[in-house]
Amino acid sequence: MYRAPVEEIAFTLKHVAGFQSALDAGRFGGLTEDLLDAILEEAGRFASDEIAPLQAVGDEEGAVLLGADVTMPRGWKDLYRRWREAGWNGLSASESYGGQALPHALGAAALEMWNSGSMAFAIGPTLTMGAAEAIDRHASEGLKKLYLGKLVSGEWTGTMNLTEPQAGSDLNAVRARAEPAGDGSWRLFGQKIFITFGEHDLTENIVHMVLARVPGAPPGTRGLSLFLVPKFLVGEDGSIGRRNDVFCSGLEHKLGIHASPTCTMVYGDGFTEPKGAVGWLVGDENRGLACMFTMMNDARLAVGMQGVGVAEAASQKALAYARERRQGRARGYRGDGMSPIVHHPDVQRMLLTMQVMTRAARAISYSCALASDMADAAEGAGKIYWQERANLLTPVAKAFSTDVGVEVSSLCIQVHGGMGFIEETGAARLLRDARIAPIYEGTNGIQAIDLVTRKLPQSGGAHVHVYIGELLEIVSTVETSNRHEFGRTAAELRAALQALAQATRHLQNQLAEGRTDQALAGATPYLRLFALASGGAALARGALADRSGSRIALCRFFAENLAGEAVTLKDRVVGGADSLTVAGAALAGE
Ligand SMILES: Cc1cc2nc3c(=O)[nH]c(=O)nc-3n(C[C@H](O)[C@H](O)[C@H](O)COP(=O)(O)OP(=O)(O)OC[C@H]3O[C@@H](n4cnc5c(N)ncnc54)[C@H](O)[C@@H]3O)c2cc1C
Repeated sequence: MYRAPVEEIAFTLKHVAGFQSALDAGRFGGLTEDLLDAILEEAGRFASDEIAPLQAVGDEEGAVLLGADVTMPRGWKDLYRRWREAGWNGLSASESYGGQALPHALGAAALEMWNSGSMAFAIGPTLTMGAAEAIDRHASEGLKKLYLGKLVSGEWTGTMNLTEPQAGSDLNAVRARAEPAGDGSWRLFGQKIFITFGEHDLTENIVHMVLARVPGAPPGTRGLSLFLVPKFLVGEDGSIGRRNDVFCSGLEHKLGIHASPTCTMVYGDGFTEPKGAVGWLVGDENRGLACMFTMMNDARLAVGMQGVGVAEAASQKALAYARERRQGRARGYRGDGMSPIVHHPDVQRMLLTMQVMTRAARAISYSCALASDMADAAEGAGKIYWQERANLLTPVAKAFSTDVGVEVSSLCIQVHGGMGFIEETGAARLLRDARIAPIYEGTNGIQAIDLVTRKLPQSGGAHVHVYIGELLEIVSTVETSNRHEFGRTAAELRAALQALAQATRHLQNQLAEGRTDQALAGATPYLRLFALASGGAALARGALADRSGSRIALCRFFAENLAGEAVTLKDRVVGGADSLTVAGAALAGE
């Protein structure tokens, strides 16, 4: 059973991502280290003792649709009530609406643990927090007053409605429409698909954040507006009124996260009178995508935390099994009979790969969250620097962490042998759950494109090289540390970072010369290269800060066994586009 690795999480947050320096510099007001530790401890306890035990029943029973109502699995309503009463929902939300306004980086660390407990559970509150943030930043005071308190407390939940059958990665194709009702409200019509927690019985109201087009809106994403559409209308005094014309018409049967209801939502189908789902504009007309991005950027990092959370749970499960299961007799094993499989070098290779990849993804994700906190607290040039850092790391945190979630949970099955393929061990469930994370919140392919086309050009292309320079300094410190336990760590990491710098310059040149397709051909290998080089440097930073044998050993394992792939990836980024273009031309069958 999963136990939250609170000590490791606190260490990564403080000494790898840099939270401790920010704390010491007084960036987080009254937050003390003791309070930080206490919150992490309690968040971990909730994940291990309350959420994780309900993961299996959530997977087996799933959410069930009857008519237009969705029933959650046994025990989940009560779990959600305990979650809400413990105040977890408003951890990072504004104090003016009952939140605790704690740093995003702390929120990310807590979210990792809740996701380890159950991805299907943690995704609900994640969306609610995202909706609250979008309302806080962009909605009128009236809407804030009516909705924010209830969302922050978790009394109501929130959703994010972008996707339609013809509009997935490409939101230009969104067709849902909104018509002015003449009294300041709007009437919404259209269908949204794949809406997470679009319907459920955890709370009495649900607040949908919906992208739609107003009459005369320009085509494409520049013509999208954001609307708040509640399941039940809300009176001026906050009381629940009549049922709105928005209903769940279907529930998807999925590979994983069975307890997270994935709903088809129908707006304005005339189930109630007057026809049209009543909604209110959030932000300006035709500026909806920018407002939604407030939610989406947070949600991207949050989905990254799903990857880290599942990877951690899978690493723990595999290690526990490998210490129990006996097969063969490893050389040097001194016990009786067959040795536990953890003694076999190939099993050790799998377990260590799982651990270091999880730690690398964790470090990148926390660093991304901290950059966002620093940007909030800074001004002038400092604000630009931190905002660009958060922008740069967001697609990497999302895509790399979720890929790691899949790879590590797949390795977890491998460590279990045949039992991994059998549902009762729970190893298969982790892989089934993890598989969605590289797809939603912008597929990982889209994240790679975002990294290359939008993030590399920041500050005229300079910011990414500043970042690489900072990582090279860590490597120099490893070099001058003269600790023989690091082995070839410095040389391997330096080569990986040089490969990153070279691939970055290549892509920047391609973009500058208008060879966008050539650059896009290398986007996914580039993101992986970026993450491996960053992750290796982050592990080195941790090893330098702690100097315990185990952190140095893990860092060395990563550098000498995994970081070398960076150079191969660089070759693919720089030289792979032509062969892809030639071979790819045949695929379309034209
Ligand atoms: C369980 C689940 C929950 C979800 N929850 C929500 C939710 O709460 N709210 C919501 O609005 N949506 C939600 N979604 C939708 C999700 O965000 C989309 O599925 C996702 O954005 C991908 O869109 P698509 O499925 O249409 O795939 P497509 O866009 O059709 O993509 C198919 C493939 O083509 C690639 N591709 C597409 N365009 C490009 C391009 N320009 N360049 C290169 N490659 C490209 C993609 O990377 C992908 O590999 C959910 C989906 C699922 C399955």
